[in-house]
Amino acid sequence: MFWLENTVPLAYREALRQGALIWNEAFEQAGFEGAIEVQQMPDDADWDPADVRYNTIRWSDSLGSGILGVGQSRANPLTGEILDADIVIDANVVRGFQQQYQTRGLDNFPAAEGYLQLCGQRSQAWYVQWLSMQAFGQQAFEQANLSQPQLPESHCADYLNSQHTAFGALALSAMPHLAASQLETYIQQHLVALAAHEVGHTLGLRHNFAGSLLLAPEQLNNTELTAKEGLLSSVMDYFPPNIAPPGVQQGDFFPTRVGAYDRWAIEYGYRSVTPSPLRWEEQQSLEQVAARSSLPEMGYALAYATDEDIVNEIDPEASAWDLSNDPLAFAQWQLDNAQSVWQRLNRLSVNRGEGYGSLRRRVDLVFNYFRSNTATLTTYVGGQRFRRLNPWGTIGVGLSQRPNQTPLEPIPAAKQRQALQVLNQRIFAPDAFQFSPQLLNQLPPDRWRHWGASSTSASLDYPIYERVLSVQGQALSDLLFADRLARVRDLEFKSNSEDVLTIAEVFESVYQGIWSEIAHEKPDAGPTAE
Ligand SMILES: [Zn+2]
Repeated sequence: MFWLENTVPLAYREALRQGALIWNEAFEQAGFEGAIEVQQMPDDADWDPADVRYNTIRWSDSLGSGILGVGQSRANPLTGEILDADIVIDANVVRGFQQQYQTRGLDNFPAAEGYLQLCGQRSQAWYVQWLSMQAFGQQAFEQANLSQPQLPESHCADYLNSQHTAFGALALSAMPHLAASQLETYIQQHLVALAAHEVGHTLGLRHNFAGSLLLAPEQLNNTELTAKEGLLSSVMDYFPPNIAPPGVQQGDFFPTRVGAYDRWAIEYGYRSVTPSPLRWEEQQSLEQVAARSSLPEMGYALAYATDEDIVNEIDPEASAWDLSNDPLAFAQWQLDNAQSVWQRLNRLSVNRGEGYGSLRRRVDLVFNYFRSNTATLTTYVGGQRFRRLNPWGTIGVGLSQRPNQTPLEPIPAAKQRQALQVLNQRIFAPDAFQFSPQLLNQLPPDRWRHWGASSTSASLDYPIYERVLSVQGQALSDLLFADRLARVRDLEFKSNSEDVLTIAEVFESVYQGIWSEIAHEKPDAGPTAE
């Protein structure tokens, strides 16, 4: 039983309620009808939401929260039984839709904002710190050090969530195939999905960054399918909004039901089993549930990758902020969307009462979105798929089904080359970024200085070259990062195929892409992709 705190705004109560109730589908699979109930905490309640006897979904209107939502629980250390759960949703999650993140405490400090822009950089912490220092000075380095490890781990998640959802909201108002009238649906769907994610934590689930592998890109906007299967196999992923590319009818923006992995994990954790000597029945029953992950017909619906698995960014298909079973294709769509929004931004894109500084922030927002999707592309180079497999299979299932499958499997060389080609065409090519002079001359910053924020000394004119360079520089440094090149080298040993991507080929591709205007050889979009 969850109680919705009486501070939750009326407009968002139903969404948060649904976010908890959609888990009932998972409990039904585990044998329980109506397992989760949600009640409204009365305005005159005489109990405190912090009381351990009440499970609550709380609303926090904070100034400097580093977290948009959190789901915490307290378990009996002897039995594992979860005794109390409290979820907090921060009001800034809604402000983020209007791209009001800059009004929050976290990025009032300009160096911190600079540092946050490096979120999503797929490299190790020290390298990000170094980049931060190069770009934003000693202060940023100190900030990064002071904030370790919280800033990259949790504040980056918060920041990137905020940036992705704000881009989606901006796209609704800017792109012709979407409609600003869908904003309310967009907000409600996001709150349902966010609450579901946090409720999932309190039910005992960890993150699952393989949760977005369920559907092919062309299936994402098929609402008949997503109503039946869900948009994701797990709401425990960090999911970006599903924004259809130009020309495609928009489907669901966010997951509206829990996925196959969520139902399966709840069944494993909660299904009741008849007591038996030595708990034999329980062991058998759990093995049967677990064995389903090896069934070929399940595809990747039960795949699992948690936080520790994605730290080194080895598997391009199991990342935060990607979507579909082909993240490369989805990222390209999003680069298209970003370009399309840039082309449509103009002085009328800001709300009444806002200044040109808001337009500047919108252009910057699209740069952040562009950068985040670029990171998906670089991860393919030296990339390897990782799947949790039981080496012995499970009684009756598993061993004979996938005899040659190994936990790690190189991403095919052709796919890695395709990522290099897209990077050349979309990031490094001389014509990759096009902006109208009209837009670039409408971007002076705000000088709004208030009790919570220091003034910004940003230049009056917009540093367009620097912005483009920051995307290209990050892509390049990520591509040539020592760990990545070592993986490319090692894949020559690890690949069963004769066809492997070599370090020399990576350098040649980058050379051709970046120096295409003056390279002696005919400019080429990159190595041939199959
Ligand atoms: Zn989480």
